[in-house]
Amino acid sequence: MIKNKCATPAKDPENYKDIWIWLEQNDGQLSRVALEMAGIGRKLSDKSGERLVGILLADESGESMVKDAIEYGVDKVIYVKNPVFKHYRTFPYADTLGSLIMERKPNYFILGATHNGRDLASRIAVRVNTGITADCTEIDIDTSKRLLEARRPAFGGAILANILCRNHRPQMASARPGIFKPIDRIPGRQGEVERLTSNIKEEDVITKVLKIIPREEIDITTADIVVAGGMGLGKKEGFKMLEELANELGGIVAASRPPVDAGWITRDRQVGQTGKTVHPKLFIAVGISGAIQHVAGMKTSDYVIAINKDPSAPIIKYSDVALIGDAYEIVPKFTEAIRKAKLELKNKPPQQQTSK
Ligand SMILES: Cc1cc2nc3c(=O)[nH]c(=O)nc-3n(C[C@H](O)[C@H](O)[C@H](O)COP(=O)(O)OP(=O)(O)OC[C@H]3O[C@@H](n4cnc5c(N)ncnc54)[C@H](O)[C@@H]3O)c2cc1C
Repeated sequence: MIKNKCATPAKDPENYKDIWIWLEQNDGQLSRVALEMAGIGRKLSDKSGERLVGILLADESGESMVKDAIEYGVDKVIYVKNPVFKHYRTFPYADTLGSLIMERKPNYFILGATHNGRDLASRIAVRVNTGITADCTEIDIDTSKRLLEARRPAFGGAILANILCRNHRPQMASARPGIFKPIDRIPGRQGEVERLTSNIKEEDVITKVLKIIPREEIDITTADIVVAGGMGLGKKEGFKMLEELANELGGIVAASRPPVDAGWITRDRQVGQTGKTVHPKLFIAVGISGAIQHVAGMKTSDYVIAINKDPSAPIIKYSDVALIGDAYEIVPKFTEAIRKAKLELKNKPPQQQTSK
């Protein structure tokens, strides 16, 4: 009889404890997503009473990151030091984390769903014989059953699926970057540190980092004002017009997915389910219909202005103000009005003070 190893559940789920997060680092600095994982981990730890443990793989630069992690809410850091961990590489990271998990038995393990996090999470899940819910947008714990409730959009965003891993351990989830918030830093916060070494040697690692070429990536997730364009613009050049409006407003240009797929704008600017989630004070949607997958990435904006020629476009429902008409007529007028208003404000004489 063929025994299916994948179907073998954990024999002792009661012995698995703690919430682990991966402290992703780049160039000796904790990445933003590591702080986000510390934020959601802190919440889950406070709710469940399970300890929040951050796993850091780094070279000697790790000491300062240990302190950062604790000040951002982690109770304990396991710092595995080795020069091979300077840059992320699949095999040394997956082997080390997989071994640690099998030895220490965390009940939950959460990673940021970055490029590296996605690569690492699936490798670890296979090594430790568990499942993973990828790219979650909500994470909770059912404390009575000690079960992770990992939620993510499914069926093209039509439903939000709540996925449980009842029998295998650890319960793993990767979390979409930009959704979970770090806690405010608490300077001087104290925590436990366990320092480990690893015996992996550089010559045993088959992948080599020859050169790091930094990519100029635009971060739309922290912008206060986002001017997003969709297929309604009809051509790449339409984004130049949005750039002018964004410049006047001090904002940033973003897009729905089809203009990204068409190569009109880079993928780091995509808003939505398979793009980034933004929370600006002002979101201007130009020629965007408001498909559910797009709205998933902008619905928490404080104030939304839609510019669309179709008064029945779904985006109108999510808007505070809708300007109905052709984007190529409205946007230049909008930009000009802002420019004029700014000039008037600049030239306005200071208010006279009158005294009785
Ligand atoms: C699994 C999955 C994941 C997805 N992820 C994402 C995602 O992350 N982000 C995302 O955006 N989409 C995503 N999509 C695609 C999504 O379903 C929609 O197809 C997409 O959002 C539509 O983009 P759009 O609104 O720019 O284009 P359209 O739906 O083509 O809408 C164009 C709009 O522009 C208006 N318009 C046309 N001409 C003008 C004009 N001259 N002036 C003013 N208005 C005009 C039209 O009335 C219309 O409302 C995903 C789809 C799937 C299946």
